This record gives sequence, structure tokens and C-alpha cells, in this order.
Amino acid sequence: MAKKDYYEVLGVPRAATPEEIKTAYRRLAREYHPDLNKGNPKVAEEKFKELSEAYEVLADETKRQRYDAAGFSGVETDFGPGGFNWQNFTHAGDLEDLLGSSDFLRQVFSQSAGGGLFGSFAGGGRWARPEIRGRDVEASIRVPFSAAVTGAQTAIDVPRTRPCADCRGTGARNGTALETCPECHGSGQIRRTSTSGFTQLISIGECPRCHGSGQRIKERCPTCRGSGRLHEVRRLEVSVPPGIEEGAVLRLTGQGEGAPTGGRAGDLFVQVTFEPDSRFHREGRQAFTEVMLPLPVALLGGEVPVPTITGEASLRIPSGTQPERQFRLRGEGFPRLRGSDRGDLIVTVHVELPENLTPRQKELLREALGAPTATTGKSKSGIFGRRS
Ligand SMILES: [Zn+2]
Ligand SMILES: [Zn+2]
Repeated sequence: MAKKDYYEVLGVPRAATPEEIKTAYRRLAREYHPDLNKGNPKVAEEKFKELSEAYEVLADETKRQRYDAAGFSGVETDFGPGGFNWQNFTHAGDLEDLLGSSDFLRQVFSQSAGGGLFGSFAGGGRWARPEIRGRDVEASIRVPFSAAVTGAQTAIDVPRTRPCADCRGTGARNGTALETCPECHGSGQIRRTSTSGFTQLISIGECPRCHGSGQRIKERCPTCRGSGRLHEVRRLEVSVPPGIEEGAVLRLTGQGEGAPTGGRAGDLFVQVTFEPDSRFHREGRQAFTEVMLPLPVALLGGEVPVPTITGEASLRIPSGTQPERQFRLRGEGFPRLRGSDRGDLIVTVHVELPENLTPRQKELLREALGAPTATTGKSKSGIFGRRS
């Protein structure tokens, strides 16, 4: 997808003043705030990111100059190889008043790699040390096929570790039974000297004994046996929204691993798969199924039951229905994500021909349909003709 011009993204003229740019960004940020766009959070999130990227460049005089001179290539190196991400955003302060109540912004600014920015966003618009965030955890669930329409509530057992509260994650009894590491004498670093030919190499690395903490456990915490962490299995209720697609991933904020030093917990990502239902085929919001019609129904018309995703419906078959004809059951397909507005169910009918007719049935059919008799035997050449 072609990138949109930053001025266009913010809807400001190229000559806009810094104040105009800021005002435009704040107005749009409010409008596309994902917490206020629950109907379509993914789109809002993308849009919000796009706005923020544009603002990141245009709010900075030198970046803006480079952009004006050389377009996107002028600011490419300001961002990582994958382009702008939230780590590159340095103007969260301009959104301070929006941040307070927003789960979304909290997530965005903490999901960036390397510890997260939101945790570091202290009051008064000042930035403090980034917090260490707990690890994200992945899990998967399988739900009934019909949950794609109805949604589902399902319980999931998630194993995770959390810091031991008794020792505050240190592994030492009461968190205080620590002593200075005898290996590195508390510095946490080890200096190694090695010789290679005439060259002496000095390298400084993390102390292997204390892993850089400079301390070692004098007496272990009995609760976690010195590991500083406890394993637990938690049962969580997961709500699968209607309209979700096979393989979609739900994010449960803060349900991942606890943070080692009291920071924010990681997130739990749950991949959703469906139990297969061989009767249906899915293409976006449209569902497809097939039914067999007994010959008399195809010929004379009638009603047949048709499986729907959540139950059964009755399909009216007009007389003279041809094999492979398709019928559309409106609103019996899949809904939009978190919405109603269901697609249709397309029903293809096949006609079931009876195999072992009695002589009497044959006789009656000949009479009724004017079919050739067995003795005349010669059929007209078929619709495909006969080649010899
Ligand atoms: Zn040490
Ligand atoms: Zn402990």
C-alpha cells in the first residue's frame, strides 16, 4: 500500500505552523482513539499509528525539513528497518491528558520492545526509567464451529510464573538474606584476560555466579526454593467474539507473565481455531453448504430441511429444480467481527436418483415422462454427442 503524505494524513497545508500541526494531531488522535472506536479497533489502531508517525516527523523541525526536501526517504533512518513503531514516538507528552483513562494507549506504549514507554511516562509529563514488563504468553483454544456466529465463552488454563511475593523475587529468605557475591565482589562484572599470540585481550562480562546482580543468596526463600518465581496455573474466561476468523488471535492485556520487579504484567495471546464442520465451507462472511434432493422433490417441488450454522432451516424447492442449482438463505452466513450484519448461506442442491426401480415404477415413469421403452433401447445421442 502506498504511504500517504504526512501533511495529508494530518489534513494540514504544507505551510502549517507547528501549532496548527499539533492541534490537528490532537483532534485526530481523539477522533481515532481506539478506545472510542470499539466497533473497529484494528482499523482505529492502524489509523492512530499512521497519525502518530506523521506527527513524529512534522512536529520535529529537522525531521520536517528533511521530509520536505526528500520525502519519506529523508526520514527513513529515523525509524527502524520495519518503519515507524511506537518506540520511535517521542511526543507521548502531547497526549498526556488523553493517556489517563486509556487502556489502549497504555498498551501501545508498553508493547514497544525494550521495556515499554508508557510505564516510564510519569506524571507531570516527565519521563522516568522504563519499567521491565512481564513476558507475553501464547495459548490456543478450539471452539465449536457455530461460535463463529454466536461467539463463545470458554475457560482456558494458562500456566505462568509470577514473582515470589515472600522474597520479592530475589530468591533470598524475606528478600534480605543476601550477601555480596564473592566472585565479583559486588560489581556484577568479571574481567577476563586472555592472550592470543602477542595480543592480550581484556574482556568485561557479566559475572556468571550472580548474573550481574552483585549479590548472592545467603539463605534461600523457602517458598520458591531460591528461584524467585512461582509457577501457577490460572483458569481464565476467554470471550470469543462473533465473526472471528479461523486462526485469529485475541489479546488479553495483562494476563501474561508477571513482571520480575513489579512492572506491568505481559499479555496473553490466544489463538482461536474452530472445530471443523464438514457440512460447511466458509469464505469471508459467506457460508456454503450442499443438500441432496430426492428426485420427486426436484421434479415436483417441496420443502427440504437445510443445515444452518446454528441449527436448521427449511428450504422451499420449486418444481423442476435442476441439479447443482444454488439457493441463497439471506442472513444465515457469518457476521462481521463483533457486529451483526450476517452474510448469506449458499445452498447447492444435488439430485438423488433412485437406483433400483421396480418394473412397476419403470412402467409408470415411461408412461408419465414419455421415456423410451427398454425394447426400443436406442437413445438419442446425448447432449455431448457421440464421437466415433
Ligand atoms: Zn558476582
Ligand atoms: Zn521466594
